[in-house]
Amino acid sequence: MSLHNPDVETRDAAEQRARDEAALRSQLASLRERSPFYRDKLAGADPGALHDLPALPFTTKDELRASMVAERPLGRHLATPLEAVRRVYSSSGTTGDPLFIAVTDADLAGWAEIGARSYRACGIAPGRRAVLTYNAGPFVAGAVLDAWTRIGAPVIPVGSGNTERLVKAFQLLGAEAMGCTPSYALYLADWCRERDIDPLGLGIRQIAVAGEPGGGEAATRALIEDAFGANVREAMGIADVSPSLWGECEEQAGMHFCGRDFVYPELIDPAGNAPVPWEDGAEGELVYTSLRRDAMPVVRFRSRDRVVVTARPCSCGRTSVRVRCIGRTDDLLIVRGTNLFPSAVREVVAEYRPRVGGMIQIRPAHTGVRQDAAPRVLVELAEGAPAGDDLSLAIQQAIRAKLVVSTAVELVPYGTLPRSEYKSHLVDFSESATRPS
Ligand SMILES: [Zn+2]
Repeated sequence: MSLHNPDVETRDAAEQRARDEAALRSQLASLRERSPFYRDKLAGADPGALHDLPALPFTTKDELRASMVAERPLGRHLATPLEAVRRVYSSSGTTGDPLFIAVTDADLAGWAEIGARSYRACGIAPGRRAVLTYNAGPFVAGAVLDAWTRIGAPVIPVGSGNTERLVKAFQLLGAEAMGCTPSYALYLADWCRERDIDPLGLGIRQIAVAGEPGGGEAATRALIEDAFGANVREAMGIADVSPSLWGECEEQAGMHFCGRDFVYPELIDPAGNAPVPWEDGAEGELVYTSLRRDAMPVVRFRSRDRVVVTARPCSCGRTSVRVRCIGRTDDLLIVRGTNLFPSAVREVVAEYRPRVGGMIQIRPAHTGVRQDAAPRVLVELAEGAPAGDDLSLAIQQAIRAKLVVSTAVELVPYGTLPRSEYKSHLVDFSESATRPS
């Protein structure tokens, strides 16, 4: 049995819903007592049941940031006395001050439990020596260490930025599993090859990727699996709710929801904001409501993560829905009215391996989400691969056929595009003309 908490994870969906009803009622009642932010926001609303939840307003990251600025240090949405806070993380905002995320002891225990379910699904198992590349720095990903400890895995925390130490953990300690971003896995494979170390010889059997889309894309996954001879599964969370919330089981067909009893997930149509039922093949944005959270509970928090749902029963025994992340609304470009997720472009390009290396960068003509000109797509060739006149045209036509978007594909030599030890920046606006979006 590869489940961390079988009672919860195999629970019947109807029974789970009854528990969620009760938990939501008590959470909302206590929020009105504890959180000035939600006392104002939910004034007049009377959510008696889960089916009333869509009538409540969303919470956005910008609102939480404004709440923090209005009442330093932690904001009007802090729902516990400051003395009860045990850690303050920050989320990696692109502009302005960081948004702080405060947690109590109970919140940390909750994160560890959800993370243990997620990563157990991903193959981090009791007794299995596992290397963790998330730094114990300001970001919540560092708290994944608690989850792996809870699983009972001998954890080797190496952080990022020291690839030599990471490689030694496999060579000297016989580690078999690793948690990292997809970008870092690809970087590690290149790093090894450049030093005549065979990535296949490291003995990595299991890789749990998280932190950015890519681990769920078939081509990117194949690239990582082939490089290391390892099984790759994906986990996903969000800083403001929980570092891990989803984990992919041995079926490798999407990530199960692992936050039962702590978080209630909804799916919405990001354009019209209407609820989308959890049906097989449904697509939408994830929205989260805390059911058990002390310091900073959220109600209907907009994740900006776009997913596709798998609602079929799963052979692993978990009864929760599965999702595959197709991109973040933050990365989205709208090219002449059509949505373009940069990770989807990378997926199309990867089908041209082994002629291409897998790295891409999109350079839009001007700043902003909406683009009226075809963006440039820089595609890195594989090491030593010749360009050939036909290749850029073939990739351009494939992007057009699959994503219904016109681009201008340019091939660049291997090693030209920036490598990342954490997350890849698939869109580069640094040379784009300035225009308000
Ligand atoms: Zn499963």
